[in-house]
Amino acid sequence: MRGIDLTGVTFGRLTVVSEAERVGSGRSTQRRWNCVCACSGQTVVLQTSLRSGTTRSCGCLQRASAAAGLTARNQSRAQSVDVPAYGTVHNRLRREYGPASGYTCVECGAQADDWSYDHTDPLEVTGLDHGHLRPYSLEPGHYEPRCRSCHKIFDRAQCELRALSAREGTGRQDQPTALARSGRHDA
Ligand SMILES: [Zn+2]
Ligand SMILES: [Zn+2]
Repeated sequence: MRGIDLTGVTFGRLTVVSEAERVGSGRSTQRRWNCVCACSGQTVVLQTSLRSGTTRSCGCLQRASAAAGLTARNQSRAQSVDVPAYGTVHNRLRREYGPASGYTCVECGAQADDWSYDHTDPLEVTGLDHGHLRPYSLEPGHYEPRCRSCHKIFDRAQCELRALSAREGTGRQDQPTALARSGRHDA
């Protein structure tokens, strides 16, 4: 396949500056392009992702849409290929802190089952975990040990809060904290 030249072409917030090293070999070789984002971020994107509209920013669009609480379908379309996967982050957590089962749940004091994202990272990303789109953080410091049932309750409360703030079009900090806290945390 003789390639076209995408230099100077704009896709969403990205403008192509030059061709990057290809990946793969033989018939599965994929062309990639160095792009600059409207936010002045830089990223390397597969040509197929650019032309299909899968990747339209350096990652700042996903962060903005996650904050705005867009639907899961829109988020998966905007998902960047460059962000570490949910599973990757959790493997790193286990490496740095050990398994969550070595800790007690921050809510109820029982043995913890999971590392649970605290939903406070301003740079959080959204990704697939066992078929579900979830917000998560790339920073191990944004995780706390929780037992399975407290983890579920906590995540559900955070999602409701997020939907609420998206509907009202204001920042999360200004929202009533009744849903998120609901008196579960004694600290
Ligand atoms: Zn950007
Ligand atoms: Zn618990």
